[in-house]
Amino acid sequence: MAAPSLRNPENASGRWYVDDTCTPCHTCIDIAGPATTYPLIQYNADESKVYFAVQPSGPAQEEAAQEALDLCPTQAIGNDG
Ligand code: SF4
Repeated sequence: MAAPSLRNPENASGRWYVDDTCTPCHTCIDIAGPATTYPLIQYNADESKVYFAVQPSGPAQEEAAQEALDLCPTQAIGNDG
């Protein structure tokens, strides 16, 4: 489970975040990365982590964020921040 105390400070302000346990594995980028319908998540400058560049807005974007959370193998995505 993601931990707000490990939240990457690059995340946009709001409920959804990626924490410091991101490997990164690319799974969430395929779901909600820059080349997808809902580009919520992106890599940091050195591509060592990902973060929410924008917070989800509306049900479809929330669903994409939730899918990313559900499929993250390290449970690095949280929505309690
Ligand atoms: S799915 Fe999880 S571990 Fe993989 S890049 Fe996204 S946040 Fe990081």
